[in-house]
Amino acid sequence: MAKIIDGKIISAAVKDRVAKEVSKLKETSGVPGLAVIIVGEDPASKVYVANKKKACEQIGMLSVEYALPENTTNEELLALINELNNKKEINGILCQLPLPKHLDEELVINSILPEKDVDAFHPQNVGKIMTGDYDFLPCTPAGIMEMLKYENIEVEGKTCVVIGRSNIVGKPMSMLLLHKNGTVTICHSKTKNLKEVCLSADILVAAVGRPNFVTADMVKDGAVVIDVGINRLESGKLCGDVDFENVKEKAAYITPVPGGVGPMTIATLMQNTLTAFLKQNK
Ligand code: NDP
Repeated sequence: MAKIIDGKIISAAVKDRVAKEVSKLKETSGVPGLAVIIVGEDPASKVYVANKKKACEQIGMLSVEYALPENTTNEELLALINELNNKKEINGILCQLPLPKHLDEELVINSILPEKDVDAFHPQNVGKIMTGDYDFLPCTPAGIMEMLKYENIEVEGKTCVVIGRSNIVGKPMSMLLLHKNGTVTICHSKTKNLKEVCLSADILVAAVGRPNFVTADMVKDGAVVIDVGINRLESGKLCGDVDFENVKEKAAYITPVPGGVGPMTIATLMQNTLTAFLKQNK
């Protein structure tokens, strides 16, 4: 029976560390500020944005939300980003994805100043992740690395399999595992022998977006299983990409959904906003 890696406890420890630094800064140089932009009415995005705002408030950071209507144009969105790029009290800018279809996501990502890009999606920051010389780490993969560290799970020399190759999760996750000297395989929808590849994994990360995609017969005894997926079932219940009930009987460690990777993503965002503030005020 696997040990459950509790993202709520680990994220609370990260947020506590950040809050202590912010409280010290308050006395001297002011507090870090995060601007969160949301366009349209996507219910999941609204929940994520509300959680980010709540975390900023808990930590004592400034958080400003810009809720724009669905019919916002590229020009209007870029004008807002330009204004925030130039605002001294805003250290981090995050534009909640996905954007409505008529908006140019790449253009928007590229228009955020790299030093305020706390999601680490700007090509300059993505390049730095490749070389290992980074200022910000992408929030979800960095949160997962923090979980592994907290549980003293060694990556060096391990066989790591990441299912999913998105720019947000799969690709950067693979790079971070590689930087820690894991031997990494990235799987995707065209992978032929997925089950066999997964069975080789000491550390298996699932970032697919399909409920119960990873079943117990795909998991090696004693593996570490990290479930990034957030899927809403018809019943309204949230579930991950991993068949938690059966996989937990085989794995040595497993993350639950909810209460696993999700809270770590937000905690890393807080850490990145603090990092941005410190770099901009040094
Ligand atoms: P994407 O849809 O961008 O990527 C999904 C990946 O899964 C793709 O690379 C796709 O392959 C791969 N895939 C799809 N079907 C299969 C299959 N049959 N076999 C193997 N691979 C497959 O999703 P994201 O990376 O953005 O997100 C993944 C999940 O993580 C979602 O549930 C999302 O909600 C969740 N998420 C959770 C976060 C958190 O904080 N916990 C943060 C971000 C995302 P291909 O490239 O070939 O299409």
